[in-house]
Amino acid sequence: MLMNRRTLLFAFLLLTFSFVNAQLKSPEEFLGYKVGTHFTPHWKVVSYFNHVAANSPATVKLEQYGTTNEGRPLLLAYVSSPENIQQLESIRMNNIRLANLSRDKMAPTETGAPVIVWLSYNVHGNEASSTEASMLTIYALTDPSNSRTKEWLKNTVVIIDPCINPDGRDRYVNWYNSVVGKNYNPQLTAREHREPWPGGRTNHYNYDLNRDWVWQTQKESQQRIKKYLEWMPQVHVDYHEMGINSPYYFAPAAQPYNDVITQWQRDFQVTIGKNNAKYFDQNGWLFFTKEEFDLFYPSYGDTYPLYNGGIGMTYEQAGGGASGLGVLKKEGDTLTLVDRALHHFTTSLSTIEISSQNAAKLLSEYRKYFNSNVSNGMGDYKTYVIKNSPGSSQRMNALADLLVKNGIQYEISAGDVKGSFTGYDYNVGKNGTFSVQAGDMVVTSYQPRAAMVKALFEPQARMVDSATYDITAWSLPYVYGMNAFASPAKISAAGIMQPVKVVNPSTGYGYVLPWSGMTTAKAVSQLLQKGIVLRYTLEPFEEGGNKFDRGAIIILKTSNQAFGNGLWDIVKNVADDFNLQLYSVNSGFVDKGYDFGSGKVRSFKAPKVALLTGESVGSDGAGQVWSFFEEQIDYPITLINANDAGRVNWNDYNVLILPGGFYRFLNDKSTLEPFKDWIRNGGRVVALESAVAQLANAGFGIQPKKDEDGSKDTSEYGDLKKFDNSERDYISGSMPGSILKVDLDNTHPLAFGYPDYYYTLKLDASMYEFMKNGWNVGVIKKNSQVSGFVGSRLKQKLKDALLFGVENMGRGTVTYIADDILFRNFWENGKLMFCNAVFLVGN
Ligand SMILES: [Zn+2]
Repeated sequence: MLMNRRTLLFAFLLLTFSFVNAQLKSPEEFLGYKVGTHFTPHWKVVSYFNHVAANSPATVKLEQYGTTNEGRPLLLAYVSSPENIQQLESIRMNNIRLANLSRDKMAPTETGAPVIVWLSYNVHGNEASSTEASMLTIYALTDPSNSRTKEWLKNTVVIIDPCINPDGRDRYVNWYNSVVGKNYNPQLTAREHREPWPGGRTNHYNYDLNRDWVWQTQKESQQRIKKYLEWMPQVHVDYHEMGINSPYYFAPAAQPYNDVITQWQRDFQVTIGKNNAKYFDQNGWLFFTKEEFDLFYPSYGDTYPLYNGGIGMTYEQAGGGASGLGVLKKEGDTLTLVDRALHHFTTSLSTIEISSQNAAKLLSEYRKYFNSNVSNGMGDYKTYVIKNSPGSSQRMNALADLLVKNGIQYEISAGDVKGSFTGYDYNVGKNGTFSVQAGDMVVTSYQPRAAMVKALFEPQARMVDSATYDITAWSLPYVYGMNAFASPAKISAAGIMQPVKVVNPSTGYGYVLPWSGMTTAKAVSQLLQKGIVLRYTLEPFEEGGNKFDRGAIIILKTSNQAFGNGLWDIVKNVADDFNLQLYSVNSGFVDKGYDFGSGKVRSFKAPKVALLTGESVGSDGAGQVWSFFEEQIDYPITLINANDAGRVNWNDYNVLILPGGFYRFLNDKSTLEPFKDWIRNGGRVVALESAVAQLANAGFGIQPKKDEDGSKDTSEYGDLKKFDNSERDYISGSMPGSILKVDLDNTHPLAFGYPDYYYTLKLDASMYEFMKNGWNVGVIKKNSQVSGFVGSRLKQKLKDALLFGVENMGRGTVTYIADDILFRNFWENGKLMFCNAVFLVGN
């Protein structure tokens, strides 16, 4: 009886299984059109992946790993043989053990373990063919009649992310579908090839997610990379599109290579490239390799996997936002979405095929790589020591968060380490001696992610060739503004310091909150929004045995009577939420310095902040500020279209932010004068990057620095050209993002919370003359220290120039910030300066 029941059940399951498989539809059957003849909205792509998963339960596991800012689901589909899918978690664990990354320290199985291939589609939303291709890929892998792919999946787990950037993709696709006619129009001048601002390339906050792998400032990256680091695939492909007249591009990549990339990683790129080439040759399709797309900046979808021990690659198809369903190429052919999707589909299968054929070698090299990292480290520097200098604890915590997000191991030393060491002193740019004390951070190169450690920490990243598509300097001590040393010695921390929970005292009179970093700024944002009036000190003072520096926030009952006795609970709760130390004071009479009633202590309320945005404004820069307010300091901001600037009643706002861009209203007297009147009446302007040059043109008190050889400086609108819609096809000349040491006047509120220097990321050559009637807060002098690449002609010009300044106009102020201090929101050390400009300057 029992036997019969079992047999029956088995027969029933078999029947269901074959029935279920019979239901699996191709993309064309499911969508009702051939892939590439329409753009598929994201929800329909999700439906198709759900359909495949529901009808291939033995070979597909679908997982939602997150949601986007606009609420769209982020998916991963794991596709493999039924045997592998059944033990997916133990395959993952084994893979982590191969990389020496598991906590259980169990020995991995190398022989017979499957290789992991991860395919990431559509990171740039308007490079939309690859998500279409993802549907073809998953169908080819699950179609029961496909014996080729079935063979590959025996030793391969394929992880498919059908769309990394659904918000950007739908912005593009919804727009395109709304403007295309009954038939597509291949003429490039037709409106369907002219995507409106800000374009679908970026995510909700106008962020380029293909620059965000390391920094993870964006929600999509944070959720995805957590998964990525749990899997650590051997092969990763990032799908893109480039100009419509280009052929296809695949690995091997171009120089410059970062020297953390191993010979095996280079070699296998060639193996993959040759397999792709075989299929392209068979079809007579054109392609190129070894040009344009370099492997240097660590935060791309190819370098990040490479620096994590995998074979990371970018594949580029001709296409992008201008191509639509079909567009005429220069040489007369029509580039169609059908072909674009087919090409990406072809390289997808080819990559899986060649990885499967080389699975054993891929795994043994992978194992070798991680074993070598743990036993030998990577590079000349074996230890990076980040000093716990006074006032740096918030930046230290932010740096620690970044390392955690990237799976990089570090220790905070609980005690002093015996002895002294020699190493490269980041702060003076040459070797020096140092010691390791309690609270210092120690990062060793002897760890699985040694390549990433080297790429992120080394003072001067080395490249073989100087032409790259991106910034050349991102060394973390400069990004975070930390004193640090890089040492060839192997140094261990003296015990590991545990984090401390702050206990805040009660007060009857008032509190002081030192202005020491972004955590303070976030708390100030919350206090202001609750309607609390704050004060800040222009001069240092001492009270109750504590010393407070300029910018310290003082919270008193005066001006806050409305809160009655509830005031202190509100303040304490906010400080507790951020684990911030409050100092209680008992009197307005200070031991040293100016009393709280002095004119040297200024009160300020929550400013009403507006940001100019829209067409003619650099979308990256505007998006950065938008995201900064909403995601970083959680403070309200009004976005105003720059084209409406002539109609705005400026009196509705206290602070106006102008990101890099072109502002017509500054060139018209009838709109410029009311704007200047608003400033004179107390309005505060924060001009960023090329907006500074715009104000210079409009007769404000700042002048561009004249080129010494007399040639005209054409960099004024550089941002628009460089960062709006550029693919990695633009080499930015002689200043591809380098780090310069800036002298700061830290007695001015714009530089409160800083030492007397700042490391700026210089993205272009724009510099200004010292202001005669203004505050020259940040200047470069002769021989400023440099990291990264600077063209030799430009080097001469980099002296005696203003980068950050403040001009008083009547009761208002204009803050000039010529560099991108919020760069991709990862330039941590610039963020406080931006908060100074918004909250303190002019009060
Ligand atoms: Zn792209």
